[in-house]
Amino acid sequence: MAKILKGSEVVESINSKLLGEAKALIEKGIAPTLAILRVGNEADQVAYAKSAAKRCDAVGIAVKEVALAQNAQQETVISSIQELNGDDSVHGVLILRPLPKHISDMEVRSALLPSKDVDGITDASLAGVFSGMNEGFAQSAGFAPCTAKACMEILDHYKIDCEGKRAVVIGRSLVVGKPAAVMLLGKNATVTVCHSKTEGIAAITREADIVIAATGQMESLTGEYFAPGQTVIDVGINWNEEKGKLCGDVNFEQAEPIVAAITPVPGGVGAVTATVLASHVVEAASQLGVRS
Ligand code: NAP
Repeated sequence: MAKILKGSEVVESINSKLLGEAKALIEKGIAPTLAILRVGNEADQVAYAKSAAKRCDAVGIAVKEVALAQNAQQETVISSIQELNGDDSVHGVLILRPLPKHISDMEVRSALLPSKDVDGITDASLAGVFSGMNEGFAQSAGFAPCTAKACMEILDHYKIDCEGKRAVVIGRSLVVGKPAAVMLLGKNATVTVCHSKTEGIAAITREADIVIAATGQMESLTGEYFAPGQTVIDVGINWNEEKGKLCGDVNFEQAEPIVAAITPVPGGVGAVTATVLASHVVEAASQLGVRS
């Protein structure tokens, strides 16, 4: 039986630190505040905003929701971002994506001030991941993407040593796969990145010590992808119509009896992601406190 790497334990540990930090800021007259910008009413985004707001509220972070109509023009979205950039009472901005098709994702990302980019979507934030600058907070470097960082928080919390280990990341998106691979490199793992054009992925993952699955293909990583002794971090969140529940990209029933440790879905990476976001807001607010 594999050890189940529960997100709730990681959340508890991060929250215990965050609560004190947020309280200290509030006592100094700085109320850490996250703005959540949404364009349209897509159900997944509304649900994610609600869950992020709940996680923030749990540690004393205020949330300001900015909801624009589905047909809002690009200029309207950008001017909302500029307003939030200039609002000193807002320390972090979460822009829910994907944006409607008529809006340029690149233009929107570029409009956000890196110092308020708590979800790591700007080029400056991503450059910070590559240079290692946003390991600690550096205003110019922004923040790491929350989901990739949540994977690292899980590895750290459960003291899974990455140094010298073979890590395989499946998926190369800018929000998960690529930053997770770079962060593993920062932990001195030897990293392989697989994607939809990689041949023979199962043979590659079976050789790994650590596997991070972020393909968006529900339960596609079946038992043949895994070997004894491995740690598996399943980033996937997919609604399984047949089972009537959320499932990961890993087939949990098949992988769990084989590997040494695995994150569940739900209750794994997803639970930690919003808490990482909250920690970034507190960090951004405390940086503002240092500057003022
Ligand atoms: P994405 O942008 O769709 O990227 C998926 C990546 O997986 C791409 O790089 C793609 O390769 C690769 N891929 C697709 N099919 C594959 C296959 N059969 N074999 C190998 N690689 C394959 O997705 P994402 O945003 O990174 O998200 C990945 C998963 O994480 C999704 O299930 C999503 O719901 C979940 N997610 C979870 C959280 C959380 O908080 N837990 C947050 C964000 C996302 P190509 O580059 O070649 O197309």
